[in-house]
Amino acid sequence: MSSPIITLADRVINIKPSPTLAVNAKAKALKAAGEDILNFSVGEPDFDTPPHVCEAGKKAIDEGFTRYTAVPGMPELREAICQRLQKDKGLSYTMDEIQVACGGKHGLYNMFQAVINPGDEVLIPTPYWVSYPPMVQLAGGTPVLVPLLEQDNFDLNPDILHKYATNKTRAIIINSPSNPTGSVFSVEALQAIGKMALENGWLIITDDIYDTITYMDTKLPHILEVDDKLKEQTLILNGVSKSFAMTGWRIGWTAGPKHIITAMNKIQGQSTSNPTSISQKAALAAVTGPQDFPKTMQKAFLPRRDFFVEDLRSITGVSCVNPKGAFYVFPNFSTFFGKTFNGKAINNSVDLADYFLDEAKVASVPGAAFGADDFVRFSFATSMEIIKDGMSRIKKALSNLEG
Ligand SMILES: *Cc1c(COP(=O)(O)O)cnc(C)c1O
Repeated sequence: MSSPIITLADRVINIKPSPTLAVNAKAKALKAAGEDILNFSVGEPDFDTPPHVCEAGKKAIDEGFTRYTAVPGMPELREAICQRLQKDKGLSYTMDEIQVACGGKHGLYNMFQAVINPGDEVLIPTPYWVSYPPMVQLAGGTPVLVPLLEQDNFDLNPDILHKYATNKTRAIIINSPSNPTGSVFSVEALQAIGKMALENGWLIITDDIYDTITYMDTKLPHILEVDDKLKEQTLILNGVSKSFAMTGWRIGWTAGPKHIITAMNKIQGQSTSNPTSISQKAALAAVTGPQDFPKTMQKAFLPRRDFFVEDLRSITGVSCVNPKGAFYVFPNFSTFFGKTFNGKAINNSVDLADYFLDEAKVASVPGAAFGADDFVRFSFATSMEIIKDGMSRIKKALSNLEG
């Protein structure tokens, strides 16, 4: 093939497309072609957006709320977000310390663009959410992957964290509950992060997108409970995508120090201008209305999680940490690596996820996408019936492996 006339920017060449969206697209295409695919690759709730939220969106259209809004989002919505942060977390923010963006992902993107310089290192606990490393790279920074161990239930081990910190460390990401592991950082881990952040002037980015979907008897620990002083160097990321089943509406937000939010607004003002006006009205209804919806989802997810984890653990050679939040299980299948099917070797998580898709018609996401090749991620934001069917297909596929 001759080389194209127009070459691409250096910044995009090393960036991989989102692997989770890619698997989902492949599964959807197979399904559309008539294949009986069970899809566990999806990173979104299987619930519809609550009716009162949809109504608010429709009303926004009917009332002509269809023009540009303020760059950081409409004041009413930012005010409502401040009130939620106060009520839910006891945190005081003012409107100019909030930016609403086109989804949580976009909020993260704006943050990295606003604070990262070339050469800056960002500590990313691993397994990580797929978008963190490329977003850091797109801002010119260097992702530094800090391993979380399965034997620690994917909690952060402070001794390991110390080994990865350097004088170039600029920021650390917390995602608790985590996508893909469902794990929650312990108070001890958060204290260690807080201490190092205070000593070294690190920015803490806490991605709280799953904070309303937890399965714990105790309160979810939060980094800002560790020390009041941390608020000056912490950005909180949240949104309605997961908590109100609003992934397609594209609304997320950041709360943090005013000078960083102002810088993020400069970037947003020169890129998307503002998140969709209609979606902002819908998000306002979600944030100000009844807060029982996430609880309803959590109640539906709990028995699915319990079944999934137990059934996975019943397979010889599989281990699975019990997720404390979110809606994913992240089992370790590494004892199956090296086995073969029809003479073809399964050597890693990508091979295994392909095998599950081709032979079991089960779509999952290989752990390699999250920097953890021993694992495969399954979402349990799907019906119990599909989970049961999927598990029996997986067990059969695994038992068909040779070697
Ligand atoms: C889903 C998700 C987000 C935000 O997603 P948006 O759809 O952009 O709001 C952020 N972080 C993690 C870990 C997620 O799983």
